[in-house]
Amino acid sequence: MNINTNTNFNNIKQTYLFSEIAARVRAYEAEHPDAKIIRMGIGDVTLPLPEEVVNAMVKACQEMGVKETFRGYPPEYGYGFLRDAISIHYADLGVSIAPDSIFVSDGAKSDLGNLVDIFGNNPVIIPDPVYPVYVDSNTMSGNKITYINGTKENGFLPSPAELPEGDHKGSVIYLCSPNNPTGAVYDKKALTAWVDFAVSTGSLIIYDSAYEAFIAEDDIPHTIYEIPGAYECAIEVCSFSKFAGFTGVRCGWTVIPDSLKSGEASIAALWKRRQATKFNGVSYPVQRAAEAALSDEGISACVKNINYYKENAKLITDLLNEKGIFYTGGSNSPYVWLECPEGVGSWEFFDKLLNEVQIVGTPGEGFGKGGDRYFRITAFGSRENTMEAVERLRNIL
Ligand code: PLP
Repeated sequence: MNINTNTNFNNIKQTYLFSEIAARVRAYEAEHPDAKIIRMGIGDVTLPLPEEVVNAMVKACQEMGVKETFRGYPPEYGYGFLRDAISIHYADLGVSIAPDSIFVSDGAKSDLGNLVDIFGNNPVIIPDPVYPVYVDSNTMSGNKITYINGTKENGFLPSPAELPEGDHKGSVIYLCSPNNPTGAVYDKKALTAWVDFAVSTGSLIIYDSAYEAFIAEDDIPHTIYEIPGAYECAIEVCSFSKFAGFTGVRCGWTVIPDSLKSGEASIAALWKRRQATKFNGVSYPVQRAAEAALSDEGISACVKNINYYKENAKLITDLLNEKGIFYTGGSNSPYVWLECPEGVGSWEFFDKLLNEVQIVGTPGEGFGKGGDRYFRITAFGSRENTMEAVERLRNIL
């Protein structure tokens, strides 16, 4: 063959993170077949779907088997019933988002990756460490990325004041709060600084709120639209994955207010064009299940599951407090991001935990250079395993 390929792909840092973790765990298991390994590296939910959600999905599947209620292609941007339910969810959070500014999709990852399609080659600002999709999708498009470092000093919440010199006009800025992997959350003041910066530099914020449902504290915004000015500068991407356990069901949404314009170009119109061309919508049973997750009963069931994970997180953070170990996350997030012991790198710490107490976590450097002395532990496991892991960790930390 003699075709041109997208050579930007050569610039993607090959993260062998999860395959490398799996290989090290397999090697350990081969040598220690009786070891009881506790996996605390997963970013996936483990509790089953709430009954309300399952019932809605089953009912929708049955409708699909009856001539009168069968449905073919769904609307590209989502069924009205789900866009309305998401709009009401925003109203409950105290912000006004019109249903036709909400675009339903098969998950936040797709939207975060696909949004790059509607922009030209703008400068891009991305925090480090962070969920790798923002970096990789911009690298695939050949965009120049400026990293802004999360550190112990800024609590892994970098602010625009820490950006390198330059005017940063017309940048695309990615923010994730509650953050994966650090669990850190921007409060209203800190998020306002980013919105003000975006407005004053004519920049766009892509705000990933996939973990919004874990927020518990009053001063932490649940949506960027709580911040004045955000309707003029921000897209918000959210997901049913962590809120309702939809990682295997697949549903999310993106909000693009009509007021979001670059010159004459309406950002929502570009996204509509992109989605109508390359996407054929989310299945009817999945959208009915998502609608059920947003009903009063659905929300109570989802919150019960989230609280279960958060109680796991508290067991972990209680131990870290007791040991005086620096960490972020855990209270508004399923992730606890802890500092490795003095002089120990994140892979070394991984090996230590695996070899000494048979616990698997995620080395921080898998999320960017800034994670090389940090380690991510997740609260998505069972209570029993979390309790046992905490006891094992108590002996070696
Ligand atoms: N955004 C963040 C920060 C995530 O951690 C994840 C998944 O782990 C996603 C988005 C992807 O969400 P979805 O399952 O809706 O694609």
